[in-house]
Amino acid sequence: MRSRNPFWQEWWVLVAWIGGATLLGAAFSTAYNGFVAGLILYLVWHLRNLRKLDRWLRGKSSGLSYNAPGIWGEIYYWLYRLRRRDRRRKKRLSSVLDRYRASFEALPDAVVILGEGELIEWWNPPAARWLGLHKKQDIGQPITNLLRQPEFLRFIAEGELETELTIRSSIDERRMLSLRLVPYGKDETLMIARDITRLQQLEQMRSDFVANVSHELRTPLTVISGYLETLEADDSLDEPVHKAIGIMGQQSRRLQSIVSDLLLLSRLETDTGTRHEEDVDMKALLSMICDDARALSSGQHEIVLALNSNAGLHGSRDELRSAFSNLVYNAVHYTDAGGHIRVSWDEDDLGLFFRVSDDGPGIPENHIPRLTERFYRVDAGRSRERGGTGLGLAIVKHVMLKHRGELEIYSKPGEGSTFTCRFPEPARSGSLS
Ligand code: ADP
Repeated sequence: MRSRNPFWQEWWVLVAWIGGATLLGAAFSTAYNGFVAGLILYLVWHLRNLRKLDRWLRGKSSGLSYNAPGIWGEIYYWLYRLRRRDRRRKKRLSSVLDRYRASFEALPDAVVILGEGELIEWWNPPAARWLGLHKKQDIGQPITNLLRQPEFLRFIAEGELETELTIRSSIDERRMLSLRLVPYGKDETLMIARDITRLQQLEQMRSDFVANVSHELRTPLTVISGYLETLEADDSLDEPVHKAIGIMGQQSRRLQSIVSDLLLLSRLETDTGTRHEEDVDMKALLSMICDDARALSSGQHEIVLALNSNAGLHGSRDELRSAFSNLVYNAVHYTDAGGHIRVSWDEDDLGLFFRVSDDGPGIPENHIPRLTERFYRVDAGRSRERGGTGLGLAIVKHVMLKHRGELEIYSKPGEGSTFTCRFPEPARSGSLS
């Protein structure tokens, strides 16, 4: 049982001690000397205990007896208790830490903990295998010293949190990794890498399959269309046969459009790096597209072109023509006769942009996020009737991705639609007047 108020008790010890010493001194007729000697002895006793405490705190002595007399026993007792509590807390904390560490180690994904300045602090076994991290020499190194791919350096520098980066493992060429950065705590980041090799292989197989099927279909379709065209021109055929051949010709042309759009999409997906890029004269390109759109509309729509910027774009002319013409032709296809279509080339604080607006039927809001999916149509019947392939906006999206741009769609039923292709600064070419 510890005393309730050791401080007051110590006062009484002091008074008793000094008093006793003074009385003893008085017995030898020197009370003052007795008082001083008592005080000195009291001080020496405290200094000895302070020294003991100091040695113990520095770890030079192993034990303090809390049976020590006076306030020192009390101080030692509470120090022991604090130390015991501290040890218990540390043990609990380290077991929690061990459990977290074990669960991170058991994760199938690679995890790297990065501290301030992207210095490597810890990683799990998959990270060691896929990123080639070595226990001894790599702790405390900036991650950018070890992973040197330019796209990774850009990814880290920009601190991209929303997007994932796909890179090849530097250790195993066949392994594809998808990286993500997750900030936590103060200036700390979790870098998580997922193995997406199998997913990529499946994606490649799918894309190869579509490209091969489209390619194989192209030649027979050309032959069929050729014969049908010849038969369509033959006036000697009976009316019902002629009509049937006309429908067959129409459908085979639709099939040809689907096949050529699928081939274009495959080409856009598989970036061979061989596509031709140049400075595109937007004035010439858009004037040509609008002339074609007027021919397609046969005077049923008012088509206006506004060139508000002289800047050109650097990119693939064919791909840009395909994307822009898809948007303009869609406006012609989906806007009823008498409608107005406005095509513009502009720039604002965000950069350059191409825009097509119409006052057609508009698109309900729930369809807008899915419009760029392949074969997604708001009204399949209307699309087919107008010769649509259902691939136009998917092509626009891919062309924009390749030009580091974005497609924005704004539409309200009954109010028309606006499609905007935004290009950030790097896609801009020199001024073309
Ligand atoms: P499609 O070949 O069917 O036109 P797209 O991918 O070009 O395929 O367009 C997808 C769908 O988006 C179309 O089926 C149509 O329903 C809708 N759409 C595209 N442009 C417009 C527009 N200007 N006005 C209204 N609906 C549009």
